[in-house]
Amino acid sequence: MAGCHDSSLVYGVRDSQLVHVSEVLRGLECGCVCPICNEPLVAKLGDSRAHHFSHNADTDCTPNPESLTHRYAKELIAKRLRAVLPAFEEQVSYTSSDGNVSEAWARGAQEEFVADLAEVEYRGFSESTIIPDVFLKHGHRKLLVEVHFRHPVPADKIDRIKSHFIEAVEVNLNDLPPNCHAEYLTRALKESWRWSWLNNRSHLRNEVHQQLTKCHERYLPKFHYLPALTCAGPRIPSRKLESAARKMDVAAEWIRDAVSLSATERMARYIAAPLDLRLAVHCCYLRISPLAIPLNLMQKTRGQSILKEHPVYWQTWLFAKFCIGTRSFSARDVESLARRIFESLNKPSRSLESVNGFTDVTQLFYEVLLQFARQGLVIQADGPKSWLHEFKPRARTVEEAAELIGSLKPAISSNRFAPDLPLGGSGRI
Ligand SMILES: [Zn+2]
Repeated sequence: MAGCHDSSLVYGVRDSQLVHVSEVLRGLECGCVCPICNEPLVAKLGDSRAHHFSHNADTDCTPNPESLTHRYAKELIAKRLRAVLPAFEEQVSYTSSDGNVSEAWARGAQEEFVADLAEVEYRGFSESTIIPDVFLKHGHRKLLVEVHFRHPVPADKIDRIKSHFIEAVEVNLNDLPPNCHAEYLTRALKESWRWSWLNNRSHLRNEVHQQLTKCHERYLPKFHYLPALTCAGPRIPSRKLESAARKMDVAAEWIRDAVSLSATERMARYIAAPLDLRLAVHCCYLRISPLAIPLNLMQKTRGQSILKEHPVYWQTWLFAKFCIGTRSFSARDVESLARRIFESLNKPSRSLESVNGFTDVTQLFYEVLLQFARQGLVIQADGPKSWLHEFKPRARTVEEAAELIGSLKPAISSNRFAPDLPLGGSGRI
């Protein structure tokens, strides 16, 4: 049997769904009614004519095969709960107040949208001005599907969709003949070239735009823009510090054992350690009591929330790992190591780079290093371009670092208990 028929009626309604004549039993047993007049239909499945329905009783009803095919396609999309989201590529630009224009590309790959809910001609939008052909929903994500069959989507409908910021795609079935059956349509719906965006408000584009906006603030923070030294949290994290203080013995042993390990083994062991032990290890290495950590190593930094751990954990790490010795380093060096240690930095959105190659993560470390520089913990190197700026440790040895830290005021003013400090010696973290 051919995929499509002549202009006779081939769609009937059974259980309030449109069915094709190829899906039903012969005669009145088909159990269908006319989609227009609701009168019983007879399925004619003979050999001489193409299979079709006819009304059981005499009638003037002449359903339009094209509008029924359109409706059948909509119901099929809803039944399949699937749409194709075409690949997406858009240039995003941003003009700063001083007239500088930055541009970047937002690119998304083609993907399949698999819904858990679908409705044909959904009327649930409070602005009932939009009635999509098919409404698909997956979790919180909504997608409108418009079916282009004989009539393209009207421009004013696209405008209304855009003005409500709803994602919408169009599937073009215009080249198909009327009266298609399900298999034929299903095949067409799987062809990705038929799908195009009517309105794309992907988070990707927004994020790229945000990145562009931010990169005008980036790399240029003058010292007078830097915030005053305050604690990262509303309170000093006394419990965290006390908990680390109780682990100083374990930490000292940890550092001694670490000497015989390879860098990879040491890293794996560090990642597996609980946060309070990590903090104790930092302190042991820096030869200070956790209770003597200054505010500088738990300070508030713009963007600190992208790291889930309390800043005292990663700022002491940053200082111990990078800010002692003779090697210069950049925020990107810190970033690449931090990504291996802190799981929360590896969300895809944290990898988006602005035109000048900074991610949110680079920016966070850059900001805190600038603050360190102002507070005298590191030295900011000069460079031809501000984003190439590197930092140099001020303390060349652990002893100098301990002296430097010791000269700063501890965040906790009174030591409620002072454990004997087992100090790290020549170990590494
Ligand atoms: Zn009828």
